[in-house]
Amino acid sequence: MRGGGSDGTDFEMNRVAQFREVRSPQKLWSGAMVRPNRGEVSSVYGVRRYYNGVFAQNYYHRGVDYAGGSGSPILAPAAGRVVLVGRVADGFRLHGNTIGIDHGQGVSSIFIHLSRIDVQEGDTVQAGQTIGTLGATGSATGPNLHWGLYVNGVAVDPVPWRNSGFE
Ligand SMILES: [Zn+2]
Repeated sequence: MRGGGSDGTDFEMNRVAQFREVRSPQKLWSGAMVRPNRGEVSSVYGVRRYYNGVFAQNYYHRGVDYAGGSGSPILAPAAGRVVLVGRVADGFRLHGNTIGIDHGQGVSSIFIHLSRIDVQEGDTVQAGQTIGTLGATGSATGPNLHWGLYVNGVAVDPVPWRNSGFE
């Protein structure tokens, strides 16, 4: 994703902040997580960004971007419960169409810039289930999926979770 928090609407920033607060006791994920899109990784976790030749303060890329084709499926990386669905029409100007999944025990995933959302809040999803399609909604330079993985509200690198998982 591009941009700082400043160009998001209050509504979307509040919804996303609430999403990061979700802690549910039951562990729903198990084993290695599924790759959420077949596109190539276009930006890895932790990349920093320059503004006018200076590293942006407090900015690093809090997720992994996949440059899949527009309309390509997005898969739930692990089982969970859909706790956030945000749409551009409702004010998700920065994130675009967004899905947030609670995997339990403080582990959660957010998917942004979607072209289509196939789930509703409250739905239970299984690992590998199609939840929507890749797009360029919100503040996106082109079609891409941003997957952010959080543990107790703190962004973590999804790669080790993809390769081996944590129990
Ligand atoms: Zn990103």
